[in-house]
Amino acid sequence: MECNSQQWKGGKHMIPSAFDYKKAGSVEEALQLLTASDDVKLLAGGHSLLPAMKLNLNNPGQLVDISGLDELSYIKEEDGCICIGACTTHQDIVNSSIISAKLPVMAEVGSTIGDIQVRNKGTIGGSLAHADPAADWPAVLLVCNAEIVMISAAESRTVAAADFFTGLYATALKEDELIIEIRIPIPAPDSRAAYVKFMQPASRFAIVGCAVMTSGNGSFEDVKVAFTGVASTAFRDQGVESALNGKPRSNDSIAEAAEKAAEGVDVLGDHFASENYRKNMAKVYAKRALEAVM
Ligand SMILES: Cc1cc2nc3c(=O)[nH]c(=O)nc-3n(C[C@H](O)[C@H](O)[C@H](O)COP(=O)(O)OP(=O)(O)OC[C@H]3O[C@@H](n4cnc5c(N)ncnc54)[C@H](O)[C@@H]3O)c2cc1C
Repeated sequence: MECNSQQWKGGKHMIPSAFDYKKAGSVEEALQLLTASDDVKLLAGGHSLLPAMKLNLNNPGQLVDISGLDELSYIKEEDGCICIGACTTHQDIVNSSIISAKLPVMAEVGSTIGDIQVRNKGTIGGSLAHADPAADWPAVLLVCNAEIVMISAAESRTVAAADFFTGLYATALKEDELIIEIRIPIPAPDSRAAYVKFMQPASRFAIVGCAVMTSGNGSFEDVKVAFTGVASTAFRDQGVESALNGKPRSNDSIAEAAEKAAEGVDVLGDHFASENYRKNMAKVYAKRALEAVM
């Protein structure tokens, strides 16, 4: 087959522009490299950044590889929270005994991400920084009231997940900052959580993903519902939450509340699902997620 050389030279066809590569030996070194130039990108699992570079959607002059930093790869319990290092892979989260004992919904979510290659290389920090509107972690972190810890050469700061995702592929992360940790309060023993998704069959990204968390016995208390895949960024659905809070745990309460899903939200439409279809699926998946915690 004849090959158009224009297509291979930095065109649209899978060859990224030239870049320098440095492997950071520590977080400190990564931060130094990050501030040394305004044309640097951190490389973690590479499962979002490299495809974007191959499509010439992102052309950094230098990659700083943080994937080998053990200091960013851990899951531990501290001060009533589960703390997850930014370079912890999706599969490490799925396999963690701490996660399965204290936050099993995180393992549920992780196991639905991509395939085993993606889960073995992709990291939770990379997923949050990339902020794909169809990514799975944002929805569950929203219902868990998680916090994202970021560091730059100058300071460290912590932002609630609710304030971290600011738009389509947009976050509160600054150019010179690195996510170091995700902190998730350990839910009360009587709380229940679930995540269900209508997945794109090839990539397994969420066309609609719904995470829920609630407590109480006879009634729904402290209900939190969040969607991913539905809009330009993951969001808590206050319409569903307020329709259900304090209501009896019954199929009728769930059906009524699920009808409110994505009300007033600017729903995405694309070649996988039209806006109307996605909105209907949000209702269906809200119902399924809530039934799972009834
Ligand atoms: C075939 C395929 C299927 C997939 N399916 C799913 C799916 O079903 N659900 C889902 O949620 N995701 C899915 N993904 C995305 C996958 O989860 C990626 O691993 C993830 O989005 C990015 O993580 P990464 O470690 O690979 O980040 P990278 O690709 O290395 O980086 C992504 C971005 O984050 C930045 N970054 C990385 N780490 C940090 C950090 N610590 N601090 C600050 N910035 C950082 C990078 O500079 C870059 O801008 C899929 C990907 C592929 C290729």
